[in-house]
Amino acid sequence: MEQTRLTRRGSLIRFGGFLFGLLGWKAGAGAGPSAVESGAISCVLAPEQTEGPYYIEGEKLRRDITEGRPGVPLLLRLRVVDASTCKPIRGAAVDIWHADALGVYSGFGSGSGNRTFMRGIQRTDATGLARFRSVWPGWYRGRTVHIHVKVHVGGNVVHTGQLYFPDAVTDAVFRRKPYSRRGKRTTRNANDFVFAEGGKRSLLSIRKSGTAYVASITMGVHRS
Ligand code: FE
Repeated sequence: MEQTRLTRRGSLIRFGGFLFGLLGWKAGAGAGPSAVESGAISCVLAPEQTEGPYYIEGEKLRRDITEGRPGVPLLLRLRVVDASTCKPIRGAAVDIWHADALGVYSGFGSGSGNRTFMRGIQRTDATGLARFRSVWPGWYRGRTVHIHVKVHVGGNVVHTGQLYFPDAVTDAVFRRKPYSRRGKRTTRNANDFVFAEGGKRSLLSIRKSGTAYVASITMGVHRS
């Protein structure tokens, strides 16, 4: 399945490279920056995952995507690196979209009156970092909690994926308002059909900062 998805970018070879890289790190043999430079290993390639039915093209360039909607504050730190060299990619457009605290996407269903909330684009800086301010996403039927992401480099989409949260932290967040107004979520990471295909490699690292959570991940992509 995973290989099938990756063929979109013509990359059975890349998939092989990813596996080799992973094994290289695990074995600890020749790992580290020198091995990267020699080409013996590569950075972990972020898994391609379906964009799903709720993408809207050409959203706003902005850091705060909440439009004042409620939820537990979430600061996203999404880093883009070249999977072949591990070097940061500057000027990549990171494009994200997710459901609001009540599980609603802008532009669809009960969110159809507004096509922009919880959607936005940021450019990576010299260190490959794109930062967003949002809220912890809510859940919708059949899916675990996630954020969709596309990375554009030079006008081309070089990565489409989904980012995930540790379930225990989501449980804690969902005990608070407005999440607690809803019933129990249907799906966790362990029983999500999209997460099953490489989602573990797209788990955000979470730390608390005052009243907010900071969620970080590095996404290895190919430039073209
Ligand atoms: Fe979704």
